[in-house]
Amino acid sequence: MNSLLFGTAKINEKKHLEIGGCDTLQLAKEYGTPLYVYDVALIRERAQGFNETFTDLGVKHRVTYASKAFSCLAIYQVMKEEGLSCDVVSAGELYTALKAGMDPAQIAFHGNNKTYEELALAVDENIGAIIVDNFYEITLLKEILENKNKTQTILLRVAPGIDAHTHEFIMTGQEDSKFGFDINSGQAERALQIVQGESHFDLVGVHCHIGSQIFSTDAFKMASSKMVELLVDWRKRYDFVAQILNLGGGFGVKYIESDDPLEGKEYVREIALSVKNNCAENEYPLPEIWIEPGRSIVAEAGTSLYTVGARKDIPTVRNYVSVDGGMGENIRTALYDAEYTAAIANDMTAPNEEIVTITGKYCESGDVLVKNASMPKVKPGDILAMFSTGAYGYSMASNYNRNPRPAVVFVENGHSRLVVKRETYADLVSADVPLY
Ligand SMILES: *Cc1c(COP(=O)(O)O)cnc(C)c1O
Repeated sequence: MNSLLFGTAKINEKKHLEIGGCDTLQLAKEYGTPLYVYDVALIRERAQGFNETFTDLGVKHRVTYASKAFSCLAIYQVMKEEGLSCDVVSAGELYTALKAGMDPAQIAFHGNNKTYEELALAVDENIGAIIVDNFYEITLLKEILENKNKTQTILLRVAPGIDAHTHEFIMTGQEDSKFGFDINSGQAERALQIVQGESHFDLVGVHCHIGSQIFSTDAFKMASSKMVELLVDWRKRYDFVAQILNLGGGFGVKYIESDDPLEGKEYVREIALSVKNNCAENEYPLPEIWIEPGRSIVAEAGTSLYTVGARKDIPTVRNYVSVDGGMGENIRTALYDAEYTAAIANDMTAPNEEIVTITGKYCESGDVLVKNASMPKVKPGDILAMFSTGAYGYSMASNYNRNPRPAVVFVENGHSRLVVKRETYADLVSADVPLY
């Protein structure tokens, strides 16, 4: 048996995996597989935890859900209910957030290549903040604001030159990064000079995001002292005082037994205390602290359910167990060697007996979900559960091989609710234009 039971997840008296008071076997039957199941109570608990920690420390703050981790109408509505703001990184996410009823003032827009149309939409919708990433964006946004005769609240995204010791593909705060104005080479300072001279920009602060799936608080403390150092310098030389210091997201979560992240609240505590100390030492007025957790709010709340199909046992080489999904709804293993834990949802107490590689149905050898998983004997028809799949799973889903994207259900207090329908074959051709 191996399982990562978070939140309301437990093994019920039938030895089935139960989440949010719902038997996952029932969910698989009712909604089909592959299926994403989200424990809404856990999402709420995580969201509240961040806000409460700041409040307890008496620090003005904003907790912004980085919605690229998982974006659909229902999740924005849960965030809104819990008093969170949200980040968007495209007009598509912005549209979804607005449709869900998110207050435009509570939306911040990120991205290293926002298009003219995207920026214009954001300005038209009066969104709360645009996190300006580069010089080209300054030019585009200036033109839009002049044309519309509007002022936009902005933050400058800077690259603080911090190596956060995580996987290369998800490391963003180092100097060699496509994101943000580099501090060390003077780009950040140049950006400040430009936007300070423009009446259409209301510069309220700075932003950095040092990476993702970070376990230690050291990198965050380094980033916060580097950022305060920058602000102190800018106050001295440009008379600029930041109202907001945005330190991004990236708090680690547990995917496999050996992962040992801190509780989300702990990261917040350390960050807030570090900023407080750094500001106090420099007699800098404590700015409002913004954080942008994505993964740490939704990853552990998400579980994927699959039906086991074919097996291929190659003596002395490897045993392949194929499920009815794969890289189409979860590309993280194929993309960056992500590791996961899987269990048999219909027999949660069975002892581990074999090592298998859990693979999907896609026509790629790299279509792997879990490499070398230690599992009970897996047989066709079993319902396989993969834990901690709530972040960057569904949101990266594709229609490769023309497989429909799966359904997503929210479970809470014994009730399940479909929040994203499974795509139909008709959906798959809905944007196609036939020749005749
Ligand atoms: C992706 C991203 C986040 C969220 O990262 P997580 O690891 O999911 O917490 C926050 N801020 C920015 C700017 C991002 O790009």
